[in-house]
Amino acid sequence: MANQFSGRNYDFVQYVQAKNLIGGEWVASKSGKTEDVINPRYAKSMGSLVISNADDVNAAVEAAKAAQKGWAQWPVRERAQVMHKLKQLMDQHVDELSWLLSHENGKTIGQSRGSVLKGIECVEMGASLQNMADGGQLDVSRGVNCKVIHEPIGVVAGVIPFNFPTMVPLWMLPQALVAGNAFILKPSEKVPFGAMRIAELLEEAGLPKGVLNIVNGTKEAVTAIVEHEDIGAVAFVGSTRVAKLLYEKGAKTGKKMLCLGGAKNHLLMVPDADLNLTSTNVVGSFTGCAGQRCMAASVLIAIGDVEHIVDDIVKKSEAINTGQDIGAIISEDSKNRIVEIINDAEKCGAKILVDGRGKGRDEGYWVGPTIIDGVTTDMRCYKEEIFGPVLSILRVDTLEEAFQIENANPYGNAAAIYTTSGGIAERAIKRFEAGMVGVNIGVPVPREPFAFGGWNDSKFGHGDMTGMDGFKYWTRPRKVTVKWALQTDETWMG
Ligand code: NAD
Repeated sequence: MANQFSGRNYDFVQYVQAKNLIGGEWVASKSGKTEDVINPRYAKSMGSLVISNADDVNAAVEAAKAAQKGWAQWPVRERAQVMHKLKQLMDQHVDELSWLLSHENGKTIGQSRGSVLKGIECVEMGASLQNMADGGQLDVSRGVNCKVIHEPIGVVAGVIPFNFPTMVPLWMLPQALVAGNAFILKPSEKVPFGAMRIAELLEEAGLPKGVLNIVNGTKEAVTAIVEHEDIGAVAFVGSTRVAKLLYEKGAKTGKKMLCLGGAKNHLLMVPDADLNLTSTNVVGSFTGCAGQRCMAASVLIAIGDVEHIVDDIVKKSEAINTGQDIGAIISEDSKNRIVEIINDAEKCGAKILVDGRGKGRDEGYWVGPTIIDGVTTDMRCYKEEIFGPVLSILRVDTLEEAFQIENANPYGNAAAIYTTSGGIAERAIKRFEAGMVGVNIGVPVPREPFAFGGWNDSKFGHGDMTGMDGFKYWTRPRKVTVKWALQTDETWMG
């Protein structure tokens, strides 16, 4: 295939230009502008992308409208067959997709492969819809039947963040496409290649031209998508600031908006927690993907005497080799911001138990695992989403104090508790102000067929992503009530 990625190790590889996909053709943007795509492991351009404006979005919408009508005529079973074929192709290309992701995003190959595999799981969910997408029906009265038909919305769109360039499009595409919509995808300008390869594989899997369109670019393209009158639903995944802004903008145009935002995930640890399970899991949660996951641990609330577990977390974090065991930070700006926040905590009197500043390779953007102890809720490292491998430890005496801190935080993506007590675990499940909750698991991502989505400032809009909730989001329920004239007796339904 034209754009197969050749890298199979971390050595630098020059790649291609990500163009727009409009009506099945890869084309330049109308503005003629391009930007570099930086491999963060080398701080060096590995390719480029085109930067689109409202004219490009209009062209994508016209192509999508033209293709959608025919696509919606396919029976759901046939649309789902495209997902069966995509899964086979992704299985065949799993090495290629994982290395491409590692190069554009900076993840380790292990973390890259994990997210590609999760993407494949989402495609399997789309393939299952041929057996699950019935709407239900019931004889509600004598001779009267009600049923629900899940109709496609028409043209819909998705906007993607930098941290999961292959997986997050697959949170949306399987359900939206199998439901009979045409889709406009706006990948992150920092990492456009994963989505480009998925689109190429979808074409090979038999998706008709124009059913998936890609518009590359930044704010200008996203604004045009959210304001476009012929786009009926948008899903956004990214920071809280942008999620809220776009939710408000999109809602004004009357379209359906689901905007997943940032996070500040709290982990609670009580003295009866299992030592090895807890320390291993907490370290994995805050350092995995170099902390650039919306499900990463950010705050650890140490309740009572848990010094032995904190010591083990410190020991395991110090053993991590930055540049080898954890990946790069996406950009120089992000790296500088993370370091500034650690400096600020130190200035405010917090103690740096593990210091990741200056760790990593000479070239590229790196921050090593960092643990800040004695954090208080007024410090910047507590208040802001850091999005790096940094764990802030707060100390309290009681579970109740810990719940109050977690509950007062404006975000609500995930929270978890480490304990061997069923009673404490059950209390925590009910008390957390978070949409995704874990017990002895620091990255409590619901696996398919369960839905994904936070609460509070971590999500604006209704419904959730993935699973059957994803299918519902991308459809309009048509409620049908039928009574044939053969029926003679009168009811209040006339
Ligand atoms: P971001 O908000 O900067 O960008 C996300 C997308 O929005 C990109 O495609 C970008 O081009 C576009 N964009 C940026 N600014 C815009 C503006 N002013 N107007 C319109 N569009 C704009 O996010 P990011 O840095 O790419 O990703 C990291 C963030 O995403 C973190 O906050 C992380 O928590 C969040 N995230 C959340 C989830 C979740 O499920 N809740 C999942 C992954 C990432």
